[in-house]
Parts: sequence; structure tokens; C-alpha cells
Amino acid sequence: MGLTLRALILAASATRVLASCAHGTFLRPRAEGDTVEVANFGYTGTITINLHGEQGPLNWAALETPANGACATGSRQSPIDMVEGVFEILEGSNVELTVNDMPDGAEFENLGTTVEVITQGGNLKVGEKEFELQQFHFHLPSEHLDNGTSQAMEMHMVFQSANQEIAVIGTYINIADAAAAEAPAKRSRIFGRQEAGAGGAAATTLLETVFSVVDQIATPGTKTTTPPLVMSEVVDVLKANAFQIYSGSLTTPPCSEGVSWHVSTARLAVTTATFVKARDVIGFNARFPQNTPGEPNLLMVSALGSAAAAVAAVGAGAPAA
Ligand SMILES: [Zn+2]
Repeated sequence: MGLTLRALILAASATRVLASCAHGTFLRPRAEGDTVEVANFGYTGTITINLHGEQGPLNWAALETPANGACATGSRQSPIDMVEGVFEILEGSNVELTVNDMPDGAEFENLGTTVEVITQGGNLKVGEKEFELQQFHFHLPSEHLDNGTSQAMEMHMVFQSANQEIAVIGTYINIADAAAAEAPAKRSRIFGRQEAGAGGAAATTLLETVFSVVDQIATPGTKTTTPPLVMSEVVDVLKANAFQIYSGSLTTPPCSEGVSWHVSTARLAVTTATFVKARDVIGFNARFPQNTPGEPNLLMVSALGSAAAAVAAVGAGAPAA
């Protein structure tokens, strides 16, 4: 069976509601009631419900056509390598950021493609634009590269505006160093860019708290409630650092563009034990780095890409190749 035909059959069977980085926004409204939706896309074909290698990022466009077309044809796709020249700097002190604490804990879901905390209010105001926080979730390893280097994990805080624009704060998560982990009381709980040579990093309490129950949602489609969450710790460190901003896309299907990315220069951290615990549940969920914003989609300039693009074109009504 040819690649294109197989892809079309897959697309036809993709009836499951998509979960994505935009889960809980207008793009992917949350299911009514108690259901936890599980995504119909994957990263390797081994961590999701539908066990097809074709579910991976090279073939996302074909999983739902034409809705996912931007995954294969968009020229401002995320994630990217955050090298000088692709982003502008926005000081954290120049944004208004508030996130409500969750004294009764928060719902924590396994969507098959990520684990996600459903937030209970929060705002991001940049200039005249105001966004409301919907959820935060995790990628392992990081999706953005920090000047060529992947980090242990990346947290995405997803916001949407009243007129349905999406903004995401991406924050790298590193492994706390052993000395800091052993003596957390003597060190700052959070740290910024000065981590290197500054005496090591201690684990971020928010992350340790969230992941303390990640083993309770090891199965896709399950959920639990976290212990109480205090958000000021992370908000303060974000505001004390800077954001590398650029206009990109969702890093999951439907890969919609026009997403306002804010990649923090701050670092959060988890202990090694917590990282292993999170990794055992998340597995692997990072899309491969995309081309420089404004340059052609990498799939358009590769042989595999032409197949995916052809499927996208078929979905858009053009004749099959
Ligand atoms: Zn994400």
C-alpha cells in the first residue's frame, strides 16, 4: 500500500477528538463531563492509543485533512532553535502575569500525548493584548532548543484571548543538582539565568508537587487531583527574567500559526527522582525542531514531506497526485 493511500486511510479513521497543546482553548474545547480526551496523534507510535508509526510528527498533516495542513506546509512552525536573530527580548517586568493559586489542588490529566494541569484563573497582559490562562502541560525533552541545546523538559502555559488568539509561555526545566536537592532550605527554590556557576539549582516546589502524583495517571485517559498548588513561585521567577518572543505555531496538531510564543530565559528544576517519575509516564513528546520562521516547512523540502503535502493538498480539494 502506498504511503499516500495509507495516510488517507489513517485520516479517514481519525475520529477521536484531538487533544493538543491548545487543549481547553477554542481550538480544542474540553469534553463535557468527566471524560479525559486522549489524542489521536503521537510522537513515535508507541505511546498512544493508536499504535501506528504514521501517527508521528512527519505525518501529522495526514491524520486530519485539511485541518492539520499547517503541520506540513506552514512556514512559521514551532518549536524552533532559539538562536539569536529569531526572537526579540521582552523583559518579564514589562508583562502583567498573574496565576491564581489552587488551594484545593487542580485536576491533572493524562491526555496520552502529555500530562496537563487544568488551571483556575490567570492572566497575561502584553501591551494592549490580554490573555487568559487555560492549562499548563509538559514536554519531555524540551521542544524549543536553547541555542542548539535541548533541556530536560519544557512547561507550556497556554493562554487565549477573547478574540481567540493564543499565547504560550514556554519554560525550560532542568534537573536539580544533587547538592541543592539535599539542602533545599539553604537555597533559593527557583533560579534564573545565573544558574551556571551560581551554586547549583534546587527543585521548583510547584513542579515537585504536581509530579508527586503523576504516577496516579500513568494510563492515558485518567486523571487525579494534585495537592494544593502555589503559583507565585513560578510567576515571580518568570517576571524576574525575560522572554524570548516570536510568532510561531502550536507544536501539536493542528499546528495552527499566529501563536505568540514567550520562551522564558528562566529555568525551573526537578530532582532526578521526579524527572524519572515524570519520564516513566510521559515517555517522549517533543516535536522535532522546525525551520527558521519564514523559511519553508522542512517537510516541504524533504522527500517525505512531499507525500504529506500531497495528502494535505488532496484534503484541500486539489487533485490527487
Ligand atoms: Zn505544548
